[in-house]
Amino acid sequence: MLADSTPFISLVRLSRLEASAAISKARWLYDVNVPIELTDSFGRVHTDLRISVTDRCNFRCSYCMPAEGMQWLPRSEVLSFEEIERIVRLFAQDLGLKTIRLTGGEPLMRAHLPLLISKLAAIRTRSGEPLGLSLTTNGSTLAAQAAALAGAGLSRINISLDSLQRERFAELTRRDELNNVLEGIAAAQAAGLEPVKINCVVMSGVNEEEILDFARFGRESGVLVRFIEFMPLDADQRWARDQVVSLETIVERINAEFPCEEVESGNDPAQRYRYRDGGGSFGVIASVTRQFCDRCDRLRLTAEGGLRNCLFGVDEYGLRDLLRSGASDAELTERIVACVQAKWAGHSIGTVNFIRPTKSMSQIGG
Ligand code: SAM
Ligand code: SF4
Repeated sequence: MLADSTPFISLVRLSRLEASAAISKARWLYDVNVPIELTDSFGRVHTDLRISVTDRCNFRCSYCMPAEGMQWLPRSEVLSFEEIERIVRLFAQDLGLKTIRLTGGEPLMRAHLPLLISKLAAIRTRSGEPLGLSLTTNGSTLAAQAAALAGAGLSRINISLDSLQRERFAELTRRDELNNVLEGIAAAQAAGLEPVKINCVVMSGVNEEEILDFARFGRESGVLVRFIEFMPLDADQRWARDQVVSLETIVERINAEFPCEEVESGNDPAQRYRYRDGGGSFGVIASVTRQFCDRCDRLRLTAEGGLRNCLFGVDEYGLRDLLRSGASDAELTERIVACVQAKWAGHSIGTVNFIRPTKSMSQIGG
């Protein structure tokens, strides 16, 4: 075992040829147990992994899934807990991973999720640190599970909520479950999950009139509301630029009622704003109008074990078949490094260069 202070090998700014040489070198380096830092050819270091634990969902949000006809993956194609654990252990001990977010589909639809969380909570980075463990959920069954999730080692949670009005909520999600979600939010707070963040996708002519209601909700209930610009990842492929409510509009509306100022957000995709009266803060994830690709530090693992280097990417690097064919850690590392090396500078939503991914948000893992 190497000392905690072992330097990471950084694979920065390489041409394709150099990258392939570096990958072979990485394999050799891995064989002698030297950890690799997952740096892409633009110098971005990847320390965050989003893991989709299922493609299934009990909601049918109009901006994500069609009302009918979703085809679910057969159970045998979905990564087992042991397979996820092996991948995370490799990432944490040899590839510089620091944080994980479990998502889906709806992650709480996966049976025995607290068991997976307890397995992941036991993994340590090379320097002996636990990983930051968080979850994104629609919250509909959270009231019954929040305490078990927190007890298993979950530290943070994001709950999606796009309307505080029962009828609109039911129309948007195609399920009449607003009360269950509100109870889930309260249960998450009671279980000590901190912070509780609320993800609210804002769409023009749909729920934009609720921006101030959500700002008030955040100020009064102690949750951190994050408004999300509508992205072209809906399964119905109905996204249009004029349905996007921009960061500028959201901040303008809130600022008129509750004066606020922008604060430094670091690597967080959400641009953060602080209320000047001390009433807390809110965030805006402006994937369309203020892209944050230059500070992206994340990779995504789909439910069937495909590694993706961008939410809007079109390529996937399959890890499941490698795992199931008995691949060594060195072989897995080689594919992971190839995925990172192929990462582009950024997506180009709203321009002619944008290629829409064939998978929707729920199939990738948002
Ligand atoms: N089912 C869980 C949930 O809804 O929180 C986790 C998966 S969901 C795909 C993750 C996040 O993606 C949610 O906050 C959801 O609102 C967001 N999302 C889904 N489709 C989107 C779209 N087309 N544009 C912006 N956000 C979207
Ligand atoms: Fe399900 Fe989440 Fe997609 Fe809504 S956003 S349909 S809850 S996966």
